Amino acid sequence: MSINVTKSYLPPFEEYVGYLAGIWERAYLTNAGPLVVELEKSLKEYLGVKHLFFVNNGTIALQIALKALDVKGEILTTPFSYVATTSSIVWEGSVPVFVDIHPETLCLDPALLEAAITPRTVAIMATHVYGNPCDVEAIEAVAQRHGLRVIYDAAHAFGVTYKDESVLTYGDVSTLSFHATKLFHTVEGGAIITNDDEIAHRISYMRNFGHNGPEAFWGVGVNGKSSEFHAAMGLCVLPKVDELIQRRRELSERYDAQLAGTGVQRPLIQPHTTRYNYSYYPTVMPSEEVLLAVREALNAADVIPRRYFYPSLNTLEYTGTQSAPVSEDISTRALCLPLYYELTDEQVDTICAVLKSAL
Ligand SMILES: *Cc1c(COP(=O)(O)O)cnc(C)c1O
Repeated sequence: MSINVTKSYLPPFEEYVGYLAGIWERAYLTNAGPLVVELEKSLKEYLGVKHLFFVNNGTIALQIALKALDVKGEILTTPFSYVATTSSIVWEGSVPVFVDIHPETLCLDPALLEAAITPRTVAIMATHVYGNPCDVEAIEAVAQRHGLRVIYDAAHAFGVTYKDESVLTYGDVSTLSFHATKLFHTVEGGAIITNDDEIAHRISYMRNFGHNGPEAFWGVGVNGKSSEFHAAMGLCVLPKVDELIQRRRELSERYDAQLAGTGVQRPLIQPHTTRYNYSYYPTVMPSEEVLLAVREALNAADVIPRRYFYPSLNTLEYTGTQSAPVSEDISTRALCLPLYYELTDEQVDTICAVLKSAL
């Protein structure tokens, strides 16, 4: 059986079925049902955040964040992320302006922000890529100096803390993805997080069509709701998250030990990260040629790594040509190796042996 870059964690079948019994009894399937409410409460406690809205995916979370902050114009963003970071900006009618990444942390480089600001700049949207926190304090300083809003695409950063606080508390809004491939998942899902009561108020209406009672509306909204079935999966997975992170940590350290001294590089974790979540195992190969050789060798052994993130988003056909040489270079060399709860030590050893044979 092939070893994929990831494998979704599924809780014991009976646990999920236990929740289904209650859903059948109530016949209340969606629209802020009791399990959705319970999951939101549990997530707020686990993550240590003030407002959290469970939504149907991480992309709608980004779109609602942009709408709730009422930003339209040029948005400074990272070219090294999943495509949804850029596409949500374009989808909401704004213009992504790419700010290159730091060559070691692979997150947006705050030292390059100011040179990209124009009179049309309204916001910064940065990604805590692979769960590695951005330099949140430097970004905040620039945003304050120029009156810009800050949105963090924190799709990879579930459970990550910076200076002992949830990294989700930085910026005006942070968003999470609970897609099946993410560390914590609800099959499909996501969340919008903010400390700000007024922004929270807007989000609460926006994710439910703007409904203010059955016949009244408070502004325009969209359907960002999730269901009892998705919340039930979240309620089953959440109590296991610490264990999932712990196992991923062990596997990551095993990889690290075997890849040390081979020329395979690893991103630098942001200083002041007090808890990392090991959501991926990213490597940076010495060259694209080596990456392709490594991938071919792994594929031949039925191991499927992924080129996260390739291509660099500043090269997308719909964003026009913008320069981001560091991101373009890194994206040709970045390869995520398999990392998931059920992966065994022996499988890591095999993957490393095959990888090394192709270097
Ligand atoms: C997964 C992901 C998203 C999109 O989340 P969905 O829940 O799949 O819509 C957005 N940004 C990043 C960085 C992601 O990895």
